[in-house]
Amino acid sequence: MAAKMIPKFSVLRAIRVVGDAWVLRILHEAFRGTTRFSDWQANLGIPPTVLSNRLDSLVACGILGKTGTGRRNEYVLDEAGLDLWEVLLAIRSWEISTQPGKDHVRPFLTHLTCGETCEPVLCCSSCTGTLTPFNTFAQKGPGAGFEAKSTTQSRRRGAAALRQETELSINTETLLCLGDSWTPAIIATAFRGFHRFSEFESYLGIPPLLLSERLKELVSMGVLTRKMKDGSEGVRLTQKGLALFPYISMLAKWGDTWLDDGSGVPLTFHHHDCGCQYTPVFRCSKCNGRLHRRQIKLA
Ligand SMILES: [Zn+2]
Ligand SMILES: [Zn+2]
Repeated sequence: MAAKMIPKFSVLRAIRVVGDAWVLRILHEAFRGTTRFSDWQANLGIPPTVLSNRLDSLVACGILGKTGTGRRNEYVLDEAGLDLWEVLLAIRSWEISTQPGKDHVRPFLTHLTCGETCEPVLCCSSCTGTLTPFNTFAQKGPGAGFEAKSTTQSRRRGAAALRQETELSINTETLLCLGDSWTPAIIATAFRGFHRFSEFESYLGIPPLLLSERLKELVSMGVLTRKMKDGSEGVRLTQKGLALFPYISMLAKWGDTWLDDGSGVPLTFHHHDCGCQYTPVFRCSKCNGRLHRRQIKLA
């Protein structure tokens, strides 16, 4: 049987790598300085076989580098892994803006350049203006086209992964929403402007039963709504869903950078306000300076 073909979409390539609850939690720990197998196991309560499987796949895609031998193995973030800092920062911002009341468990973000605590603001690389889903649009890029749908199975979200919420860790609702390969893919497709069941089905190559199940979950989480403005059948992003724009934007940027198939970017992104093609960047909400990985501190 011929493989199902789906449109090339960098976000989906990125989701195949990081759209997993354990992977998100492992990365979160890695950015906090965890490098040893035993520490991950202790901090996350993750079964050793699952941990070793996830670490191997992160090493295979260049996110983690492995040093040492046997039980002394250490895993440190490699270039591609370090470059995920904007994706993780976007997840943190989404939690803060949409899940009020949990602020006490979230570290403050300090911009070392200006010394202020701040929030990251998604901005255009060309004009420095703020980016929103409404002042941007995507066009087919040089790498546009179709590719075979990945045959890797969607890893079911283990209940254990979702319930062991610890201080400072990514929270349960976020893992339900983003810690899986299908839900963030549906959200990304909604940002492409699709509303109808059949559109999601053909764009993602997702089995209909799974699609209805995940749509139901996203509606119950308040990320999507079935209340279409023109009364038609379909789903659209709510305010809470739209607030994932920085996350989807940064995932696309990461996918474009690290998962290019050699033909160039499938989509280019444009900012209405300045008319230019952009790469999303984070700027400081206090001084408006560009945020760089080494000039921020979460504590
Ligand atoms: Zn601009
Ligand atoms: Zn600043």
